[in-house]
Amino acid sequence: MNLPIVDMHCDLLSFLATVPGANAFAPDQIACAVPWLVKGNVRMQVMAIYTDVRPESTILASRQAAIFQRLWEDNSNSLAYAGPEFLENWEKQTQVGIIASVENAAGFGNENAGWNEIQSQFDTLLSQVGKFAYISLTHHTENRFGGGNYTDGIGLKDDGKRLLDYMAGKQIPIDLSHTSDLLAEGIFNHIDLQKLEIPVIASHSNFRFIWNHRRNLTDEFAKEIAHRGGIIGVNFLRAFLDTDVPERLFDHLLHGFAIGAEKSVCFGADFFYTGNFPDQSRIPFYFPLAENAGKYPSILDNLETDLDKNQSKDLAYGNALNFYRKLWS
Ligand SMILES: [Zn+2]
Repeated sequence: MNLPIVDMHCDLLSFLATVPGANAFAPDQIACAVPWLVKGNVRMQVMAIYTDVRPESTILASRQAAIFQRLWEDNSNSLAYAGPEFLENWEKQTQVGIIASVENAAGFGNENAGWNEIQSQFDTLLSQVGKFAYISLTHHTENRFGGGNYTDGIGLKDDGKRLLDYMAGKQIPIDLSHTSDLLAEGIFNHIDLQKLEIPVIASHSNFRFIWNHRRNLTDEFAKEIAHRGGIIGVNFLRAFLDTDVPERLFDHLLHGFAIGAEKSVCFGADFFYTGNFPDQSRIPFYFPLAENAGKYPSILDNLETDLDKNQSKDLAYGNALNFYRKLWS
């Protein structure tokens, strides 16, 4: 089924910013290389500005924002900027639309940065990339804003609250994919308490009900995201699906429909550069049935008996497209 695809997360920018000889157009280098995106009929790809928590995190983030800008400007035959105009004329588009997000607010300021520095870096990055598809406060670890996936018991800190206040009303969703459970709870509470205008999403997360992993969403959080009109991008990494059963990918996708998140579920494959990853137990990172962005048509084919035509469309692009059209109109 060759539907257009929206994918909510890949790490092409950090690959281009950090790996010597990295080429966005080399399919043997990374599973979200542009030829794979074209093959999979990806119409909109979110590209994360990813940094871990370290002193030079803002420099690395700025480098990725510059790479993002050049990427679509220098390759306008295959790539386009997926801003509001691109989404308005969705049916006419032929290129791969790209849009940036921020994965780890350490990219706005390291642990010692003053608040003026953080705001100024936020504004500069935003003006460079046009729109943020979302912001994730943390990655796996803890930072000044809150606790990541692997930091149980660390929630939303004062700086995290301050950043949420600063994001509010700017049409930028907050992403729960890398929060500890306590941080997710803190984000929901702070948004409600302060009546902040911030949509909540999970850009690249699976369901803990299907595979018990701290990177996956509890049904409670998934339902809350759906209830608030957010979206949930299902992740293709073997570690978060089920390390032994490739077809579990379909169970995760269908679980979204089963729990009432049928207008929220979408793709968030999470393709990144695997060449320098220290943890050998993660290999292979992806099962062959979802090993690169060229696999979307066959993934949709596999769901043909479980989903009707409209549901397949919602999953492939409709839910994410609706979400951003509404947000940016
Ligand atoms: Zn991630």
